[in-house]
Amino acid sequence: MGDTKQHHPSTLVIHAGQHADPHTGAVSVPIYQSSTFAFRSADEGAGRFLGTEPGYIYTRLGNPTIAALETSVAELERGAGALAAATGMAAVQTVYFALLGQGAHVVATDALYGPSRLVLETEYRRYGVTATFVDSTDPENVARAMRPETRLVYVESPANPTMAVSDLAACATIAHDRGALLCVDNTFASPLLQRPRDLGAHVVLHSLTKFLNGHSDVVGGIVVARDPELFARLRKVHRNMGGTMDPHQAWLVLRGIKSLALRVDRAQANARKIAAWLEADPRIAWVRYPGLASHPQHELASRQMDGPGAVLSFGVRGGFAPAKTMIESCRLATLAVSLGGIETLIEHPASMTHSALPRAEREAAGITDDLVRLAVGCEDERDLLADLDQALARAAEVAAVPVP
Ligand SMILES: *Cc1c(COP(=O)(O)O)cnc(C)c1O
Repeated sequence: MGDTKQHHPSTLVIHAGQHADPHTGAVSVPIYQSSTFAFRSADEGAGRFLGTEPGYIYTRLGNPTIAALETSVAELERGAGALAAATGMAAVQTVYFALLGQGAHVVATDALYGPSRLVLETEYRRYGVTATFVDSTDPENVARAMRPETRLVYVESPANPTMAVSDLAACATIAHDRGALLCVDNTFASPLLQRPRDLGAHVVLHSLTKFLNGHSDVVGGIVVARDPELFARLRKVHRNMGGTMDPHQAWLVLRGIKSLALRVDRAQANARKIAAWLEADPRIAWVRYPGLASHPQHELASRQMDGPGAVLSFGVRGGFAPAKTMIESCRLATLAVSLGGIETLIEHPASMTHSALPRAEREAAGITDDLVRLAVGCEDERDLLADLDQALARAAEVAAVPVP
């Protein structure tokens, strides 16, 4: 396929890293389901370990199918290299473990993906790492939290489930000026809609489980490094700590990535329609979607992203009970966590993902009792609107009953 670096993202998703197999001509990258690779001689083996001979050694250290996926995402995110991980959280661990150490400090978005925040507050804390969580939609909050020992600024944008958008270029400048690195969790946007590296991020990561794979049938993660030195550092930790991927898993994600542009275009078009429809509906208290003029960072999102994406949240009038009734009444939208799949998923954080948090803490993180998150898929928009409409009718019946 030659050099694909000059192509547009919707071409890259189909061709980057995905060359016909040199041995057989197979157009689909074969699944090299082998844990180890034979050497022709002891000297060749030694050369592969030293890096003076090309070729594979052992699948935890590298594998042709996994390498194809890593090339694909590295090119999409315009990085020096990528590292595929067993899960999104394994990718997060590679970043934290490689870049933090005894006495290091992290400044992170407060509305971080739950476990990404939790491991900093608990497990890394045990090793003397401290973290300050800030509302990163205002870069001043990030700047104020920086300390001499801050090694990492870790930002999620758009953030979950509030859809808050942070200024990535401003965060990159703050990190750079203080000798820290900026890592962006780009899961919600996908590389089609946002390329943090071009805005100055040093590391970009994804839960491949979401948009990149896109079919709700695989978990996986990936880390992309901006420059070769940082990539080498992350690679060493990643391979030795062991959170690497399996070849079959890599092949499934490669298969999913090929349709990323088609899926994101369709899901985003559906999300735009649904967001506008919800905003005009009296049964809805508010809608948070970067594509709406009412979104607090709408202007920034329009500048920083190539589109507002396919995830949105909204408030069902009446609060907890009507919101819960609404999600339980959907027949097409599936009641499930996760996002970025071809099918529409709906969830109610206050009764599901965030139910363990005390209400005050939930509200501080922007997760109100009425908040419903909708991860819009690729179905026909008319069917989705009809489903939401009938579910909201059920919710309105509950909202009409006075609380005793
Ligand atoms: C899902 C998710 C993760 C974690 O990924 P897993 O594949 O579930 O381990 C990290 N960040 C964000 C924003 C996510 O949505």
